[in-house]
Amino acid sequence: MPKTEEEKGFVEIVDGNYKIKGKFHIVEENQPIFNKDTGKLAGVTNPRDMTYIHSYGGEAPFFEGITQGKLLASRCDNEHCLSKGKIFEPFRIHCPDCLRKNTIVDITDKAKNKAKIHTFIITHRAGAFNTLPKPIKFINVEFDEEVATILMSILAVGEPNIGKRVVPIFNTKKPTYTIMDLRFVPEGTPETELPKGFTF
Ligand SMILES: [Zn+2]
Repeated sequence: MPKTEEEKGFVEIVDGNYKIKGKFHIVEENQPIFNKDTGKLAGVTNPRDMTYIHSYGGEAPFFEGITQGKLLASRCDNEHCLSKGKIFEPFRIHCPDCLRKNTIVDITDKAKNKAKIHTFIITHRAGAFNTLPKPIKFINVEFDEEVATILMSILAVGEPNIGKRVVPIFNTKKPTYTIMDLRFVPEGTPETELPKGFTF
């Protein structure tokens, strides 16, 4: 059953401190596990319901960006680093080579004009709590020579092929503020075919 507002946990930051309100641990009644053949007790279920507070830290701009239709990446601008000018997507707070803080850059236009499928995998068996439509078409997205990494995402419409041009779509209407707000579709997909809540 979906939780009521009184059963949810809420967090905000006030004066630099986390302030929590509501319920973060809900205790449920456990159940015995009996062996139907022998009538003997074999164990118990352990229902657990807890709300985890996940801080994004320096990656927060990336997750806020996708809710606004922006794909943010990061770039090393250190003159003395061999990776100077390299762009990282997924977003890296620090350069893996010189460990200096990277500069945040907007690669939305680059993704719209240059992104393509590097490789892909299709799975019919999803993990626990899966909310993606099956089969899930996982794709690795490459951008251009400036971007030193490939991004893991999913193809929301159509079939994946190596080298296929794709464009990002964003859950801007009712964002979850997680990576689920970013997906890709083949170039030329009409807006009417996008998943609910998603825009270009
Ligand atoms: Zn560097």
